[in-house]
Amino acid sequence: MVAGGVLSALRSVLRPSHQRIRMITTTACASQRSLAGKVAIVTASTDGIGLAIARRLGEDGAHVVVSSRKQANVDKAVAELEGLGCSVAGIPCHVAKKDDRETLVSKTVEKFGGVDILVSNAAVNPTVGGVLDCPESIWDKIFEVNVKNALQLSQLVVPHMQKQKGGAIVYVSSIAGFHPMNLLGAYSVSKTALLGLTKAVAQQVASDNIRVNCVAPGIVKTKFSAALVENPAALEKVTEQVPLGRIAEPHEMAGIVSFLCSDDASYITGENYIAAGGMPSRL
Ligand code: NAP
Repeated sequence: MVAGGVLSALRSVLRPSHQRIRMITTTACASQRSLAGKVAIVTASTDGIGLAIARRLGEDGAHVVVSSRKQANVDKAVAELEGLGCSVAGIPCHVAKKDDRETLVSKTVEKFGGVDILVSNAAVNPTVGGVLDCPESIWDKIFEVNVKNALQLSQLVVPHMQKQKGGAIVYVSSIAGFHPMNLLGAYSVSKTALLGLTKAVAQQVASDNIRVNCVAPGIVKTKFSAALVENPAALEKVTEQVPLGRIAEPHEMAGIVSFLCSDDASYITGENYIAAGGMPSRL
């Protein structure tokens, strides 16, 4: 051992015991991150809230599968998360395409050996207007992507979770599911349906130790809300309705999702959580 090595070994032995304990604790915590070793699929996760959730699950120790329709977006998100030191894979998936959904789940299992977590985040809103004005084709599209595809993805992951004797599913709803927005009529109703889907699926799989919960964001700064957020007059009007006095950043939706996927939430299932800065949320 060279002189420097002997000195540093001596310093370590002589270091006050409380400092040594702190070092050991820090190392232990790093290997005990809340989602260490879990395998998580997050849909629509190359931008906005989905990307923030994928990032947080990765930072909390999960192997994360990011996905969305466009390969280029998937590649970009994978590079971003890899750059942060996350364990990540990218699998393109348009949630409305059966083959894509099946590939998403089968490739995840092939790569990581199972699925512990599904965050069903994808949604569309191709129209603006009251619910009574919604054309049938648009209504069908909204309910297909926002509700039916969430159910179908759950049907694909549940058998893997049953085999593993546990898992967690989180649906992403909206404050509009509790308090319908005039201009987002059909979309709001689809998000209300997710609250019911949460409870129905939760009841069916509770005996398999699979927990199913839902997060309902308020208004979050993403491309989805750009029309609102980038119009100063509209933004001011909306912000007035938020007791916290501001709209949310995507990462503010990620912690609650990570919590619900973790063992800290081991006795929580069938619940709908609102993260909307205090906006009215009575159904
Ligand atoms: P966003 O920023 O517009 O992100 C859209 C993401 O979804 C992109 O990664 C996009 O990538 C992907 N995507 C779009 N259509 C898809 C499809 N059919 N299949 C798979 N991926 C698809 O949206 P966001 O605001 O984060 O919204 C995420 C969720 O939060 C939605 O469920 C939304 O209803 C809910 N939410 C949002 C707000 C808000 O204010 N932003 C409020 C309440 C609830 P590609 O283009 O590559 O597909």
